[in-house]
Amino acid sequence: MSPERPTDRSRALFARALELFPGGVDSPVRAFKSVGGEPFFVASARGSRITDIDGNDYIDWVMSWGPLILGHAPAALISALQARATLGTSYGAPCPEEVRLAEAVVARFPSIQKIRFTSSGTEAAMSAVRLARAATGRSRLIKCDGCYHGHLDALLVRAGSGLATQGLADSAGVPASVAELTTVVPYNDLKAVEAALHAHPSEYAAILVEPVAANMGLVLPEPGYLEGLARLARAAGVLLVFDEVITGFRISPGGAQERYGVAADITILGKIIGGGLPVGAYGASRELMGLVAPDGPMYQGGTLSGNPLAMTGGLLSLEALAPPGPYAALEAVALDLAAGLREDAAASGIPVVVTQLGSLLTLFFARGPIRNYAEAGGADRGAFARFHQAMLTRGVFLPPSQFEAWFLSTAHQPVDIEATRIAARESFAAMSV
Ligand code: PMP
Repeated sequence: MSPERPTDRSRALFARALELFPGGVDSPVRAFKSVGGEPFFVASARGSRITDIDGNDYIDWVMSWGPLILGHAPAALISALQARATLGTSYGAPCPEEVRLAEAVVARFPSIQKIRFTSSGTEAAMSAVRLARAATGRSRLIKCDGCYHGHLDALLVRAGSGLATQGLADSAGVPASVAELTTVVPYNDLKAVEAALHAHPSEYAAILVEPVAANMGLVLPEPGYLEGLARLARAAGVLLVFDEVITGFRISPGGAQERYGVAADITILGKIIGGGLPVGAYGASRELMGLVAPDGPMYQGGTLSGNPLAMTGGLLSLEALAPPGPYAALEAVALDLAAGLREDAAASGIPVVVTQLGSLLTLFFARGPIRNYAEAGGADRGAFARFHQAMLTRGVFLPPSQFEAWFLSTAHQPVDIEATRIAARESFAAMSV
């Protein structure tokens, strides 16, 4: 693609959108604020490609921020959705697909015996927090600096993702009395968790963590970290909540719990389990989920929860990911790409750290190591912004923030990887002059 890609239509629509939406968008990180320029409006997408309304075609590494592990608009999914839509789009009464999708999830997550579907990851996280508090009768929470669990008040404290992108520590509008109940600890730091538990014995309901952090850029758990969290939680009578909204069905069929062999008490899911339609879920043991209405006293519900189209999206997605699934192949491609990007940056004399796990990776403009948000936050955002723009003009759409992961899908072909490498080489070279 030429650097003079046409943008008239997207610019005109964005001008209208700015009058209608805060920042012109329905979710902050889409606004391109930290990388400069303006977002494009999408006309269509298929496989690894996304096309904007000015006719520009991009290799997509955003992939709807994670749900699309099979790429855009897989044919089997689209025909299943078309067929399902003719039978009605929402009932407010149970549909068979809810049971089938629940069975598919429960089969892969031994720590989940019962589950509840929601319409977003945020709702699922909010419900998981309520469940942990209902089960323990305690109020305090521990979360990690830079981990994002959706935009619920209790967890919108040093929450990474869009907040990190905008340089915000916390959100306005969260009452101090709510934020005060959340203790923030650095990721990969068991001593800090121990100290927090010690400071308020018998007051914590839950430790919440992205077992593989993907909202401060991709940051991997150090050996023993997740096991240590489980041990500390158990000893303190605190529930361990794994937010597997990104990692679930992405880094292995059974998410981080399978990959690292550590079970959570409560699991939060989303993204891939909806196959690109709005689905979240939380699940736990039969005993814990017995507290949820109508079986128990903890209330949570949703007009569109278990929606038949959304459930169909999830089912098609999980069917295609049935073990062994595409995981080994995805990992091999991601490993290669990560190594290639390191090589290309080094050739231009640009220090980078590329973190990678499964089909996730982040290119940090930093010297490393990157083990937590303080270290991720030291990355050069200006360099990332220049790189992002250079890649976009070369037809490669990267997440518009230094603090997000790139999402590889089964639709990314060798030609996409090669084109991304070529664009990266050119972009690094342009940055180093
Ligand atoms: N948890 C994690 C780990 C996430 O990455 C996200 C969204 N990026 C959420 C929760 C919130 O999900 P949603 O945007 O569907 O509300």
